[in-house]
Amino acid sequence: MLQSVLVKLPLLRQAARKNVLNIDEISRLIVDVPDFPEPGVVFKDITPLLAHPVGFAATVEQLAERIAASGAEELLAIESRGFIFGAAAATRLGLPLHLVRKPGKLPRRTIGVDYDLEYGSDRVEIHDGVLTAGKSYAIVDDVIATGGTAAATAQLVRDQGGDTAGCFVVIELAFLNGHKRLNGCRVDSLITF
Ligand code: AMP
Repeated sequence: MLQSVLVKLPLLRQAARKNVLNIDEISRLIVDVPDFPEPGVVFKDITPLLAHPVGFAATVEQLAERIAASGAEELLAIESRGFIFGAAAATRLGLPLHLVRKPGKLPRRTIGVDYDLEYGSDRVEIHDGVLTAGKSYAIVDDVIATGGTAAATAQLVRDQGGDTAGCFVVIELAFLNGHKRLNGCRVDSLITF
């Protein structure tokens, strides 16, 4: 069993690197779930994409290529599905990965930025001391919707004197105009709805 997986591994990597699945094929692996988690929201479910080894690898390959082209020196992955793509891209590129989390999740001293939601507010945090002035950071997530989470993450970087190389996402919900909140940090998305 292990033997057959190991034999297949280089073939899968090769398939993904040649982008054997194009963006249309990748987007067909993302399922719309209407009215989740609340009425009126169409949730973009990426779990079928994760369950498709060639599709997932091709997605990571595309993200990694774009991040490499941006000149980013380190990656910031946003909780929680951003961790999946950020971690995979970081190992592919051999770049440091840092976790941006919801309040109270990181064990050491944190710095954070609050941001507004339609109803109420939220906050992103990162361990104090991991962001370095003058360094260039790629922000990675699965979806950019209103842009609030990514904008707060970009603000975290700027507050510490860092630069944002871009916000790299699998899916951009363009009709929500998230990029407008990002204050100059460009959005680089594989798929736009
Ligand atoms: P926002 O701050 O509005 O850009 O929301 C971005 C975060 O919420 C991302 O971390 C996404 O995982 C999640 N998210 C927002 N809208 C959706 C959606 N329609 N489908 C899936 N995830 C979403």
